[in-house]
Amino acid sequence: MRLSERILNITPNGADGWAVFYKARQMKADGQDILELTIGEHDKKTDPAILDALTQSARAGNTGYAMVPGSRALREAVARRIRMRTQTPTDHENILITTGGQAALFAAHMAVLDPGDTALFLDPYYATYPGTLRAAGADARAIITRPENNFQPTRRDLERADSAAKSLLINSPNNPTGVVYSPETLEMISDFAKTRDLWLISDEVYDTQVWQGRHLSPRAMEGMEPRTIVIGSMSKSHAMTGSRIGWIAAPKAVVSCLIELSTSTTYGVPGYIQDAALFALNRGDALEKEIASVFCHRRSIAQEILSGTQVLSLVPPSGAMYLMLDIRATGLGGQDFALALLDQEKIAVMPGESFGAAAAGHIRVAMTVEDDLFSGAIRKIVQFAEELAAR
Ligand code: PMP
Repeated sequence: MRLSERILNITPNGADGWAVFYKARQMKADGQDILELTIGEHDKKTDPAILDALTQSARAGNTGYAMVPGSRALREAVARRIRMRTQTPTDHENILITTGGQAALFAAHMAVLDPGDTALFLDPYYATYPGTLRAAGADARAIITRPENNFQPTRRDLERADSAAKSLLINSPNNPTGVVYSPETLEMISDFAKTRDLWLISDEVYDTQVWQGRHLSPRAMEGMEPRTIVIGSMSKSHAMTGSRIGWIAAPKAVVSCLIELSTSTTYGVPGYIQDAALFALNRGDALEKEIASVFCHRRSIAQEILSGTQVLSLVPPSGAMYLMLDIRATGLGGQDFALALLDQEKIAVMPGESFGAAAAGHIRVAMTVEDDLFSGAIRKIVQFAEELAAR
């Protein structure tokens, strides 16, 4: 029996860029001591007080079907957070609670694209993007951004994109590059979206992880609210990756259609997870700052170590929990470097190529192990790269 083109097309060549990650997991399963600096998973687990809120809610009987759009209290809490952080009028009807940012990304594209429509995204990109757009039936087209511009898109980069496109997906603070878009870049992107009449889908799941400058949401820019869909998540801000809870902030008409999509797909997010998220949001931003601060500290550790080498250069990391290292001076590509590093040093990092053609010749290092292990790993990576370059 033939499967649908849509499902077969999610990763058309079968490769999803995760070969090094799977190899590292296999080596670990075989008993080897592998240091994983691959995925965006905090070393700190979900705060016990949030877990208490979760179990209390479940034990109090909140284990039945929950409200599909999300509870009114949680939608209001998310709206309040967005108002405070972006000064943009937002109420609960602008918010849909989703099973993580990932489901929000899929839903946003389902809302604005018909099958075959062109959907733009920026390369380097978070690894699920092309598959997500294709799962929504779109023709996914990457726009290359360049290391010489620190991976900030330029107007010229965007102008090269297919003029028939219907949407543009951006992500700042950025995974994988750690770049935070400047106000000028976001103004330029917003102007481009208006000129081309595009939906702008703004993935802001790292909005609490900004080390330099500040987070700006394009939804807050003039004339952008009616065409912007924001993707939010508790995963990174509250170390709740496994709870699978996030949101969409969008015009009310978009949210009301997306409630129908949720009814036909997830039928909402478990009520006790929603209660845990509400408890976490009500704790205010002190917890968010505490969770984010470890990455800021590790970034400084890495900057100091890397300042002593000419062979590796760091894409200026102004946000998120990753470092993007340019390894071109070693003579290896990202994939070969990452595989050799795994074999010889037992350190797993992601090859830049996992995040698109624009990131070739780079590796992404997740800052997700405690400080001493982390600084030791960065020193080993530097030594490894210097030995390669000296050959
Ligand atoms: N967007 C980006 C840029 C991400 O890095 C991630 C997760 N790593 C997500 C969205 C999805 O996050 P979640 O589904 O856990 O909310």
